[in-house]
Parts: sequence; structure tokens; C-alpha cells
Amino acid sequence: MTNSPPLLLHVCCAPCLATARASAAGHGPDAFAANVGIFFYNPNIHPLMEFRRREKALRVYLERYPLPAEIVSEYGLQTFLERMLSQGKPPASRRDRCAECYRLRLGKTAETARFRGFAAFSTTLLASREQDRDLLAEIGRETAAKSGLAFIDADWRKILPDAATLRGIYKQPYCGCLFSEEERYRDSGKHLYKGSKPLQPPGNTR
Ligand code: SF4
Repeated sequence: MTNSPPLLLHVCCAPCLATARASAAGHGPDAFAANVGIFFYNPNIHPLMEFRRREKALRVYLERYPLPAEIVSEYGLQTFLERMLSQGKPPASRRDRCAECYRLRLGKTAETARFRGFAAFSTTLLASREQDRDLLAEIGRETAAKSGLAFIDADWRKILPDAATLRGIYKQPYCGCLFSEEERYRDSGKHLYKGSKPLQPPGNTR
């Protein structure tokens, strides 16, 4: 990105970027067009094919609605696992796990923002009602204090994009890591083959 706009926005996925963009614009002109550069860095998305689907979704969105963008295409499983296992085992609670995940992604975003000459950073995770907004704000401020940049704690959830904006764009069914994939499906009756019965838990032979 050359002639950087003021805000480097970490992007978790195309649907959240579209929501943040609609919320920033309100009913006026596109507030992102001149003010935002985006940064896709998500070593938390697994497995590989899911990561590629989400990256591709973002690229399709940006073809329709261009913004200056830096997309880290490298699959980050190793980076994510090293961070999660830095204490020898994964964090005990979901909150602690997500805190480390936010630190990893916002830390890299702030580092990149400084390097590229941005004055501030934020994240489209703040556009999702599935994320812990208070925890994100806390870690955003913590990261800002270390980097010397401003963290923009905007409420990006105010306005959903219209249906046409995201037509044909992949929308993910779980947050990203394999822990979240298990949390999404472990109590689900969803099964692999249409028309077949859900799998029974072990020990239930009926
Ligand atoms: S649930 Fe989402 S935010 Fe939390 S660790 Fe997994 S990918 Fe990261």
C-alpha cells in the first residue's frame, strides 16, 4: 500500500468487512474509500481449505468493492499452535484462548500499521456479535499502548450490508480455530449424508 490512509483495519472475513463498511457509511457516502487500508492476517483459521475459502471470499468482495489491501495468504496453523501452546498446553477457558488469539492478530496488525505509516488500527472482529467486544477493546488498548498507535474501538455492528453486497460470497459457519469448530458442531444433529440418521453417541446401539 502506498500513500497510506489513516486507518489500518484488520479484516477477519468478508462478511464482517461488509458490515463494518456499511456501519461506517451509515446512509452517506462510503467512509472507507479514502480512509481505510485493510489487512487480512488470520492464523487462527483452520483447516487449510477453510482458510482458503475465507481468503477467496475476501478477494471476491474486493473485486466488487475495492480497497487498498494487504492479504497474508500463508496458512498460519503453526503460528497459531505455537501461541496457544506457549504455556505448555492450550488456555483453559475459551476467554483466555480468544484473548491470545486477539493479541496475536492485533499485535501483527499494529506492527504492520507502524511499519506502513498508519496512525491507527482497528479490527472487523468488532463487527461481529459472536466476538467478545469488551475483551477486544481491552486487548486493542493494550496493543495500542505498546505500539504507540491509536486503537479505534468503533461499533462496527450498527448496519448490516444489503443482501446484494454479499451475494455468492462464502459465509463461514464457525469462528475459525478447530476448538471453535468443535464447539459449533459437537452438540449438533448435523450429519454427513442427506437422508441418513444422525450418528449415535458411543454406547448407544439403538
Ligand atoms: S474461537 Fe475464534 S477468536 Fe477464539 S481462539 Fe478460536 S478463532 Fe480465535
